[in-house]
Amino acid sequence: MTTLIQNGTLIDPISRIHTKCNLYIKDHKIQSVTSDRPAADRVIDARGKIVAPGFIDVHMHEGGLNPDGTLDESILLSLLSMGVTSALGGNCGNNAFASPGEYLDLIDRRGAPIHLGLFAGHTDARLRAGGTDKYAPINESVLNKMLSALQKELDAGCAGISFGVKYTPGTTFDELLKVCSLCKKASKPISAHIREDAAGVIDAAREMAEVGRQLGIQVEISHIGSMAGFGQMSETLQMLDEYVLNGTNLGIDCYPYYAFSTEIGETTYDDGWLERYQTGYDSIELCDGEFKGQRCTEEIFYKLRKEAPRTITVCHVMQPQDVDSALLHPNVMLATDGFLNNGQGHPRAAGTFPRFIKNYVHTNRISLDDAIYKMTSLPALQFGLKNKGRLCASADADIVIFDPTEIADTATFDEPVKSPVGIDFVLVNGEIAVEKSVIKKRDAGHSLRFW
Ligand SMILES: [Zn+2]
Repeated sequence: MTTLIQNGTLIDPISRIHTKCNLYIKDHKIQSVTSDRPAADRVIDARGKIVAPGFIDVHMHEGGLNPDGTLDESILLSLLSMGVTSALGGNCGNNAFASPGEYLDLIDRRGAPIHLGLFAGHTDARLRAGGTDKYAPINESVLNKMLSALQKELDAGCAGISFGVKYTPGTTFDELLKVCSLCKKASKPISAHIREDAAGVIDAAREMAEVGRQLGIQVEISHIGSMAGFGQMSETLQMLDEYVLNGTNLGIDCYPYYAFSTEIGETTYDDGWLERYQTGYDSIELCDGEFKGQRCTEEIFYKLRKEAPRTITVCHVMQPQDVDSALLHPNVMLATDGFLNNGQGHPRAAGTFPRFIKNYVHTNRISLDDAIYKMTSLPALQFGLKNKGRLCASADADIVIFDPTEIADTATFDEPVKSPVGIDFVLVNGEIAVEKSVIKKRDAGHSLRFW
């Protein structure tokens, strides 16, 4: 099958392409970037549109199984609808399956809406190895059991190891080093929801940067907006910049919203959170269950913490200038941190990428090329996705075609999975997966393995 995408403006920051040209695709690969119009089985006219590499989301949370035993693909479909063609899940220390390697095998057997790689989660592996008290350090036998489980997942092609140290406060620095040594041996990165946010974020970010510096491994600091978005952003970024300047391989990601999302039972809301964020109970919006759509009260808070700790919340508490400065920082890439439960959650899962263009490019705070760099090139380069994030011969045919002035998110906190507008086509693996906001194919994606 051959496809010609003609008359569009191609943007590929890695290849320094920003030009009106045609893209010729054969099967799953880009065959050429050309001013010719070779005969093709299918022609897509992209006049007036931007043709870019499919967006890459390095921080999302894959879905588990539905009650009927099928795979919950709602997050993958949301990502696809906004132009994401490759993603990395298993973040913040958690995996949807006990074995992320087996999840990748499942995707290869049945296909997926987009390409998906997974980190192996430290928090889950720790729990399964017998570290049942998240507030306490683990003993030698639990440590060894956890290390061998994580090694098995790295051997299965997982992208690296993810941490949710905030959710597992008993994790010592020594435990971090021992776990990360597996990544050093395998030349794989770690991604980290660091130990503390707000006033504690500088020490917490330094701790992870130190792991990277001491072991010489790649570190990704996750969703910086929800970690340092309370008045600590410029100091945090400056400190991390110094590590980068001194040679540590360190990346940072962020989503373009001023509210974070987590379950109400998480450690984020342990005693002291009101003082930490200098806020009140009503900053929490409840996203599912009995109180869906309502703002929280003290009474509801304690009731749900006890009776329904998995209730998804959105907490409207980050400072806009902090989140904005992170998103515009040259070393920060875009990522959703999206997770959905029964189609409910934070609109970042369905709006992050178009919203970044709408709120930052359309208001002239960043150029379209630089925005696309943060959504394609930077994540591809940082995570070694060699054939992705670019438009050149032999690159994978993962492509998004959108209207540069009309593209916008429409998902809101009330309607978190509403599809964006202005996206004409999304191609996954050379196949049309989305056409004019309609999903046409939901199994063109395969697993991303890192060996
Ligand atoms: Zn996280």
